[in-house]
Amino acid sequence: MKIFERASAKINLSLDVLGKRDDGYHEVEMVMTMVDLADRIEMEDLERDTIILASEAGYIPLDEKNLAFQAAKLLKTRYGVTRGVYIHLDKHIPVAAGLAGGSSDAAATLRGLNRLWKLGIPQSDLETLAAELGSDIPFCVRGGTAVARGRGEQLQSLDAPPPCWVVLAKLPFSVSTADVYRKYDAQTMGRHKFTPQVLRAIADKDYSRLCDSIGNALEEVTLSLHPQVQQLKELMIRLGVDATLMSGSGPTVFALVQKEGKAERVLNGLRGFCREVHAVRLLV
Ligand code: ATP
Repeated sequence: MKIFERASAKINLSLDVLGKRDDGYHEVEMVMTMVDLADRIEMEDLERDTIILASEAGYIPLDEKNLAFQAAKLLKTRYGVTRGVYIHLDKHIPVAAGLAGGSSDAAATLRGLNRLWKLGIPQSDLETLAAELGSDIPFCVRGGTAVARGRGEQLQSLDAPPPCWVVLAKLPFSVSTADVYRKYDAQTMGRHKFTPQVLRAIADKDYSRLCDSIGNALEEVTLSLHPQVQQLKELMIRLGVDATLMSGSGPTVFALVQKEGKAERVLNGLRGFCREVHAVRLLV
């Protein structure tokens, strides 16, 4: 038997760093939502007790380092599954971009194998399991829009944000999340909290307030390390977008606009600056 799952990319509408925890993680508060840009994951049941991972992407690991592999292995061990699986990853989400591509693949693998192997794991247990694999993975299992606290694993689902278009642009380099957090700690930045205003704008379904409220405490750090991120934001603003923000620790920057035609124009305007650009809807 063979099944398919979509693994959607996420963006942060807010990201606040509240402090450092004893376990080394950072205490965060952030609003995340899914966008209509997804990897497509095929999973085929194998009688043989093995996990086989394949992808044409070329730039991702296909062994134990891959989060989809780790998800399959965790399910097998925890639920005593002696069957195997062939997993094919059709990657569309830019890698190491702050869009949770790997996390979303792992989440889709958990959801898919729960179906394929008829394990009957309840949603809440699947999310708890997901937290063992990575901080963003419980949100990717759940989907929609949520505020995440703790190290990102404590979730509260929210209403969908006002519908709009998201233009995503990934600069051609990767950013080390660990470096960004290290620099963030050293500079003790981020006095302002973005999440409360974003929560209010979503509750009131107020698009223009949402545009005024979005913010990411890590943006300043990544901007100081990579001035191109600032240039990309400025270009988006010149193209007339309503708001711009870096997602996660970067380097992807997204812009919000309301009309599809505008999203297309912004997309075309960014093409000379950036190779990886996408205009997608929020997944509401
Ligand atoms: P996050 O927003 O959760 O920090 P990200 O979008 O910045 O994630 P990913 O696309 O998940 O980053 O990739 C980060 C690294 O994880 C890659 O360099 C890659 O080597 C590794 N990785 C492991 N599994 C996957 C996967 N299924 N898809 C992409 N990258 C993966």
